Amino acid sequence: MAPADGRLVSISHSPQARPREALQTELDEAIIRAAGSHRRAYALTVVHVSRSDHSRVQSSILTSSIVSQTGLGALDRLPVELLLQALRHMDMQTLFSLRQVNLRARQMVDSLKEYRAVVSYGLTAYCALLRMRLAAHVTLLGFYRLLCSQDCAFCGKFGGFVFLPLWIRCCFECIEEDPETRMVTVAEVRRLFRLSRAEVGRQRACLTMPGIYTTGLYSADKSYQRARLKLVPYFPAMKEFGDRLETGVPRSRHQPFWDPVHNFMASCELPYYDPQTQTVDYGISCVGCEARAVEGNPGQASRPAVAPWDGIFSRDNFLKHFKGCRQAQKLWEASPEAALEAIIKRDVVHE
Ligand SMILES: [Zn+2]
Ligand SMILES: [Zn+2]
Repeated sequence: MAPADGRLVSISHSPQARPREALQTELDEAIIRAAGSHRRAYALTVVHVSRSDHSRVQSSILTSSIVSQTGLGALDRLPVELLLQALRHMDMQTLFSLRQVNLRARQMVDSLKEYRAVVSYGLTAYCALLRMRLAAHVTLLGFYRLLCSQDCAFCGKFGGFVFLPLWIRCCFECIEEDPETRMVTVAEVRRLFRLSRAEVGRQRACLTMPGIYTTGLYSADKSYQRARLKLVPYFPAMKEFGDRLETGVPRSRHQPFWDPVHNFMASCELPYYDPQTQTVDYGISCVGCEARAVEGNPGQASRPAVAPWDGIFSRDNFLKHFKGCRQAQKLWEASPEAALEAIIKRDVVHE
């Protein structure tokens, strides 16, 4: 995990890596430590779960307090492989409840590599799904697949976040900028499209979590949201009931009331997990480029010329960026770990 000071460390290295590849990985990690940074601050302006809350839920997610030797009833009649496959297609709410049943259920769920990855690296998103009453809409396989993807579904850049109601990977910018991540209150969607109670019930509603949220991409303000709001994504309702706007509602009432803070209350950080190397990537920004932006705008450190969320790279793309970024290279050359490069070159020559 990235430590509190924002510098990055690798979680683990590929067990199959040969010595020379391992040295290269060491070198890459050292470069990232010297010239890269993970801006965890953004993760604290969307849905987030504190470390102490994590440890409280881990008792129910990672271990079970209920120990029993009984079986799984009718499910036990299935061949084990088929049962495991069925578990992968179950939703996260069902799996959460199933693990509470008995020890056998817990062991079956915990034996799935997908479940272990989800609770190890996507715990914030899992807690958010449970608390926001969205966990029944996401299967274990759906969760795992999103965890193992890294691009924002809307713009294609590195996406270190997830839009929870529709379970879509996105970047920080698209949480506000893309129309599909727009959230409105249930009352508002009901008014706009004149929905019946049953139609409202079919919307993917979520109950927001109290906390501190950013009020917008271009705002330095944060707001504490005490109330738990019932929100729905606007886009699916618009797709299904948009024709009612044309016929029944006066044109002046077409525009929904929309507060950007609601989008951030429906999104949270989700790192990219690479199953090959068993490492996670939260996105890396270039400290060299940041320093240059501040130098170019003295006294404007909080308002750099380039939007700060623009420069978030995946691990691989950061290393490519590093090759062309003189500012980052200077930071690396001044780092005590730069000696590693000379050692690797020497060893390669002597091979
Ligand atoms: Zn995006
Ligand atoms: Zn740079």
